[in-house]
Amino acid sequence: AIDVAPAVRALTPYEAVTSQSAIEARPDGETTFKLDWNEATIAPSPRVNEAIQAYLSGNRDLNWYPQLGSKDLLGALEGYTGLSSEHLMASNGSDDALQLICNTFLSEGDEVVAPVPTYNHFVVFAQSRGAKITKVQGDSPFDKNLEGIYEAMSPDTRILYLVSPNNPTGKVLDPEDVEGLCRAYPRTLVILDEAYFEFAQTTGIELVREYPNLIVTRTFSKAFGLAGLRVGYLAADPDLVEGLSRIYNPKSVNALGQVGAIAALNDLDYLNDFLAEVEESKELLRDFFASKNAEAYITPANFVVVRVPQISDTLGQLEQRGVYVRDRSSYPGLEGCLRMSVGTVEQTECLLERLEEVF
Ligand code: PMP
Repeated sequence: AIDVAPAVRALTPYEAVTSQSAIEARPDGETTFKLDWNEATIAPSPRVNEAIQAYLSGNRDLNWYPQLGSKDLLGALEGYTGLSSEHLMASNGSDDALQLICNTFLSEGDEVVAPVPTYNHFVVFAQSRGAKITKVQGDSPFDKNLEGIYEAMSPDTRILYLVSPNNPTGKVLDPEDVEGLCRAYPRTLVILDEAYFEFAQTTGIELVREYPNLIVTRTFSKAFGLAGLRVGYLAADPDLVEGLSRIYNPKSVNALGQVGAIAALNDLDYLNDFLAEVEESKELLRDFFASKNAEAYITPANFVVVRVPQISDTLGQLEQRGVYVRDRSSYPGLEGCLRMSVGTVEQTECLLERLEEVF
């Protein structure tokens, strides 16, 4: 066989932890609850489907490549982010943005600092470039642990990867925290992954106007409910965008993804209704777990983390009831913990009947 590149040799294939039944499951509120991947639990705005249908029945059929550089989508994102499009770049999910950043800026042996637990796929992208990862672990995974980050940093740190709200802990960084790090380490590229921004409404995106070493990544996969379309974007200083554009693929966002994401941005009422539902559901879950004396973290994002005495028993009992959650017990500081997405109030009320039998 042909050998893979040396940096890739040490990696293992993406953990296929999600069972087929979880993939097939949908939170239909009657039989199954797919709560394992932090997706939105409801379909996106009906305007998304309408826009896609209109595209398909118009004169822009699928034989044509998508609009290069997703220019119209960037235009719509100007309104949403408050940034001009020279700061913006669209990507095939935010994973694609993270990988593009690693491919553009990382070389063999570069040092990357990442507070853990974190979103592991970024770590894989960085390792595939031969970077060395310094994982920063605090006393509690639910603390910001800024001191720990500063201790791990050096002027030569090439990338600092921050996630806010963090997956899987939900920990939120304030813009001042991010700003302090950008200012203290001007030679380090700071990535601020805001995949769950909409749920917490705390953002550092405006800092990209001021700090030439900051990239913020976001996605349509979570609050906007477009995970199946694969659309994300990044925001950064125009010089960084120019650097990224050297290997950027201007066709990276497919035609339906572009059209769907624009339509989603044109229906922020729908987004806000879903955000309100998630907040209300989190209160129901908070009360439920409190009544069971369970150690539960109701995060500012669209998921909760719950510590249970026997993780595999609990996962089995939940699966028997059609509830699919994510085992995060192997993550640092999350021994015995599962992570579960939060949906609408109606879904949560139905879910609680199942949880009642398990907790
Ligand atoms: N960043 C974080 C923190 C995530 O949790 C995820 C999805 N689980 C992603 C990025 C990637 O999402 P997508 O590629 O769908 O935008």
